[in-house]
Parts: sequence; structure tokens; C-alpha cells
Amino acid sequence: MFNMGAEPPHRIYKRDKHGIARSSISRGALKVCEILKAHDFSAYIVGGAVRDLLLGVVPKDYDVATDAHPDQVHRLFRRSHLIGRRFKLVHVLFGSETVEVSTFRAGEGGESDEHGRLLRDNVYGTRVQDAARRDFTANALYYDPHDETVLDYHGGYADVRKKTMRIIGDPVLRFREDPVRMLRAVRFAAKLGFGIDPKTRAPIRKLANLLENVPAARLFEEMLKLLLSGHSAACLAQLRKEGLHHGLLPLLDVIVEQPVGERFLRLALDQTDARIRGGKSVSPAFLFAALLWHEVLAAWKLNETKEMRSIPALYLAMDQVLDAQTDKLSIPRRLTTTMKEIWALQPRLEQRSGKRALVLLTHPRFRAGYDFMLLRAESGEVPMELANWWTRFQDAELEERNAMLIPDAAPKKKRPRRRRKSRTDDTPEPTPAPADPGN
Ligand code: ATP
Ligand code: MG
Repeated sequence: MFNMGAEPPHRIYKRDKHGIARSSISRGALKVCEILKAHDFSAYIVGGAVRDLLLGVVPKDYDVATDAHPDQVHRLFRRSHLIGRRFKLVHVLFGSETVEVSTFRAGEGGESDEHGRLLRDNVYGTRVQDAARRDFTANALYYDPHDETVLDYHGGYADVRKKTMRIIGDPVLRFREDPVRMLRAVRFAAKLGFGIDPKTRAPIRKLANLLENVPAARLFEEMLKLLLSGHSAACLAQLRKEGLHHGLLPLLDVIVEQPVGERFLRLALDQTDARIRGGKSVSPAFLFAALLWHEVLAAWKLNETKEMRSIPALYLAMDQVLDAQTDKLSIPRRLTTTMKEIWALQPRLEQRSGKRALVLLTHPRFRAGYDFMLLRAESGEVPMELANWWTRFQDAELEERNAMLIPDAAPKKKRPRRRRKSRTDDTPEPTPAPADPGN
């Protein structure tokens, strides 16, 4: 149906056309819409949920748009809180579900910087304005659970059917307003198997450097969404294709030129995607540790050539790589601490002598360190035999474990090894990895 009322022309699709039944909406999102409506506010399911339902994909969460102001929404729901980062939103909690409720916004009239980037986008508006400020046509559909209709102001319904990501309005202007939209275009295209409309895609390469002006913490958040989309390998490949990776993870360039590095990264990404698609959890620290590992390796080797001892050279390399990365994409400290632990475990896992192997089993990050070493083994960086040894060792009974331990080399009688005063408990003396123990 085509509506030509007071509002600009828009299409209204009925249930028999779009096929989304009220019963397929989550309990929380339905309840939010019902309660708002009962208080004479309008309320729609918007964004990714409508798009995903049209595609027959289960939405990962629900967004609701309303004409109620955030304070009014907050007052209606006991288990809700106002969150206000770039603009005020309300999170309404129903059991384990969180429904994000946003008030219609105008998208104009906010402040921008000298590149056209919107610094604030918190001017309230009408539903029509709210539709126009959204990023892609496929993300700007409004589902009314009350009468099961879909409102479409920008041709999003047809674009979803054509599997096209198309930006609303002038692409250059919209990417300038928020350069993260370029990353969103790539993420949605890769995740949904959509193409990017040629006019939307055309300016991306030229505007890629605008990502430099985006706060590093926001870039990190977006990167994480991309990596945890279940299609990280496809997303990164497409980022490279669009020339968008330079400011984010410059290492991606280097990695493709190193066969082992590329293999390692691909395995890490494929494994992550498989876990996400299987509904399993993924540790972001593990993932970023994998993404940056070959940078760490290169810096480590370089430091060693400067006559540094192996372990201090590794610790320095970890800091160097993380410091360089922070400018582009700031990885939160809660993650970098774990990443360093995973990296620092690697040389320790390569030694199997004495009782050290037993001690490592009790390390709080042993499991992550071991999984990481498996990746290194599968990509050919360390012998598979080493990984197999740890696989057997951790499951073995005590007696078998003791038998598996590789004895410490007998100390040389004449020149007993001196203990360095400065040695700390968890930075072991580097010893060369043992030769094939013959098992
Ligand atoms: P996902 O499946 O990742 O949740 P989504 O489309 O729901 O996808 P959200 O980040 O949850 O994405 O945002 C919800 C909606 O808010 C989007 O669908 C879009 O309409 C709007 N939106 C989000 N980010 C932007 C942005 N940077 N610019 C314009 N609109 C945006
Ligand atoms: Mg969403």
C-alpha cells in the first residue's frame, strides 16, 4: 500500500506481505511496545531486528523507537536504566533480555566538527525524521506489533529483498557525519551476505582516512562487533577490499604477506566464527591476542637481536605492540592484561622440563595459553608434537604426568648456575625448547 497522507510518501506492508508475526517478537520487546502504547505513546520495533526477521534470521537483540522521552520511558519500567553516552537511551530489562529504547531523533541540528562529523545527535524529532537519521535503508523499517505492519520511508523493504545495503541520503555527507557507518556497511554486508549499493560504496575508499578522527574507544567497540559477528573472516576480507583496514589494524597488511602469519590469523578467525555460530562464547582478549601475535613475534625477534635476554625482550615487545595499537584502536586494559598473560605463557609452554610444566597447569590462564599454542601448532609455527604433549599431559593421571616430564638437564658441576637476584617468580629462565623427547 502507498500512503500519501500528511507524512511524506511511505509504504505500509501488511503481515500477509512481509510475514512477520507478532508471536515471533521477543517477549521483552513486545511488552515494551504494549506498555508504551497503553500510555498513549507510539512504539515500534526498529533497526536490525526488523531486517533480520524479514530475512528469517533470529535477531540478536531488539531496539524500540518511541515518541516518549527517555525519562518517561524510564518511569514506566521498574527494571530500566538511563544510559547516556552519545545520546540518552533507556535499557529495559526482562529476565536476561535487554531492550534498547530510543526516542525519535531529528539527526540534524546537532554540533559537528570540521570534517562534518556529528558530535552530538540528541535533538528529538518525529518518526519521519527518525527514519531519515538512520544509517541504511534496511535498518530504517518500523514494525508495529499492535497491527503487525511495517512502515518503510526509504525503500528498505525492497533493499532487504534485493540484499542491498544502501545508505539513506547523500553517501559522502552521511559518512562524514559518522565514519563508523563505513565499517557498519562492511559488517552488515559480510554478515548478511548483502552487496553494498554502488553509490554507497563509491566514496568509501576516499573517505577511509576519516576513521582517524573517530575516538579510539568507539573504533574498538565497532571492531569488536565486527570480529564477534560470526563472520569475522569475511568482514576483515571486505575491510581490506574497501581499503578500510589501514587505520584500524595496520598489521593486516603485513600478515597477508607472511604465509605462517596469514594461516595463523585465518585459523583464529575461522575458529571464532565457528564458535559464535555454534552459540559458544568467545574471549575478546584471546582474539586480539591472536590478531596482534605476529606483531609481537616480530618485535620480540628484533629486541633479541639487540642483545636483550629472551623473556625481557618478549615483555618489551608486548608493550611496544600495545602502545602502537592504542593510538588507532584503544584496547581496554581489562583485555590487554589477559592478552599479555596469554603471550607470556607461550615460551613457558615450549619448555617441558622439571616441575615447571606441573606449575603451569595451575596458571589461571593455562587454558587460554594452551588453546593459543594449539593455533600456533596448527599454523606450523611450533611443532604439533608440542601441542599433542600438552593435550596428553593435562589429562594424564599423576603417575603418567611425572613420567612425561622431561628431566632438567643435569647441572654442570664446575659452573653451577647462579640465580639472578632480579628474577621474578613468573618469568622463568629461558631455556631452549627441548629437542624431540622421542615420544
Ligand atoms: P545489529 O544486528 O548489529 O544489532 P542493528 O542494525 O540493530 O544491527 P544497532 O547498532 O543495534 O544495529 O543500531 C540499531 C539501529 O540504530 C540501526 O539499525 C540503525 O537504524 C540505527 N543506527 C545505529 N548506529 C547508527 C549510526 N552510526 N548512524 C545512523 N544510524 C544508526
Ligand atoms: Mg541492534
